[in-house]
Amino acid sequence: MITTAAYAALSARSQLAPYTIQRRNPGPHDVLIDILYCGVCHSDIHQVRNEWGGSIYPMVPGHEIVGTVVHTGTDISKWKNGDIVGVGYFIDSCHECAACTEGEEQYCEAGMNTTFNGFERDGKTPTYGGYSTRITVNEDYVVRIPEGLPLERVAPLMCAGITTYSPLRHFGVKSGDSVAVVGLGGLGHMGVKIARAMGATVTVISHSTGKRIDALALGATDFIATSEKGAFEIHAKRFDFILDTVSAQHDYNAYLNLLRHDGTMVLVGIPDPVLLSAGSLVMRRLKLAGSLIGGIRETQEMLDFCAEHGVVSDVEVIPIEKINEAYERILKSDVHYRFVIDMASLKRD
Ligand code: NAP
Ligand code: ZN
Repeated sequence: MITTAAYAALSARSQLAPYTIQRRNPGPHDVLIDILYCGVCHSDIHQVRNEWGGSIYPMVPGHEIVGTVVHTGTDISKWKNGDIVGVGYFIDSCHECAACTEGEEQYCEAGMNTTFNGFERDGKTPTYGGYSTRITVNEDYVVRIPEGLPLERVAPLMCAGITTYSPLRHFGVKSGDSVAVVGLGGLGHMGVKIARAMGATVTVISHSTGKRIDALALGATDFIATSEKGAFEIHAKRFDFILDTVSAQHDYNAYLNLLRHDGTMVLVGIPDPVLLSAGSLVMRRLKLAGSLIGGIRETQEMLDFCAEHGVVSDVEVIPIEKINEAYERILKSDVHYRFVIDMASLKRD
């Protein structure tokens, strides 16, 4: 086993603190990765605080991983030492079901194996995420980081990037479409950049009032503060597509009213349940959908798309000692626009 320095939460109420984990020695099809950077996603917080239920402790969060391959299994030809690679929200799946065969491993019928707060395929070995110095991963669940990109700004693409790219592609957002991104946080700011790079006209809808300048700088052409009087009436029936990235409860019906007939709203944020009125959909033949990260093939496609269009995340790089403070700031929507942990700040064993 490989003794590995990490940060873990021991319960839903504890702060993250230094912790030591054991990584498996790489098997014939595994790579061992030295982690350089790990982004901080709101899903880490939901799970550390057991907001989705069923959390497994000790928990080492982190699923926006960029690092260097330092060891390759005996049967690997795809990767070599020194390769810069990424690992996202899952590290394995069944490899056999219809979803896995289609390259949509995130929808694996047997259940994907999440990078943390889950178990490996044996169903009993806990998985530990990227708030750590190294990770052992099956070669097929690793993607190649295109050359020439600043790595700390690439890490968030591994979740925030693919989670916004995938629905924009899947639901066919195209040049000239009028797209609204709800919530300007980690996912939201990537949604703005990627939708813009796809040629859409993007509006940010925010419950904060102070993000207008940032929204425009990120590529939006308009900004709506939901607190403005009459915001939902003024902008009714304006958009073809809404990408909702909000992490807290809010009224979906009000946002659906902003869609034109035949419009689509895709939820990627995962707050507590909300009441939905059928009338909100029926009256204009609207579609309401959800979307979960993206498969390995599509994650590689997204990275290549971002490299081609010069899209990376706007980040605030922090040492790991600041992680608890970063969580508090994320909860106050005070993130510009993704915290990324510099793993050099965690002493290696
Ligand atoms: P984040 O950085 O905290 O951004 C969330 C944004 O939601 C905030 O910046 C804020 O934007 C808005 N917001 C927060 N509280 C709100 C409230 N009470 N009312 C209205 N808007 C509010 O979080 P994130 O990392 O982008 O993640 C967002 C959500 O997506 C989380 O629920 C996360 O678990 C989920 N997620 C889903 C997937 C997936 O595969 N579907 C993947 C990753 C994350 P404004 O200040 O602009 O309003
Ligand atoms: Zn995430």
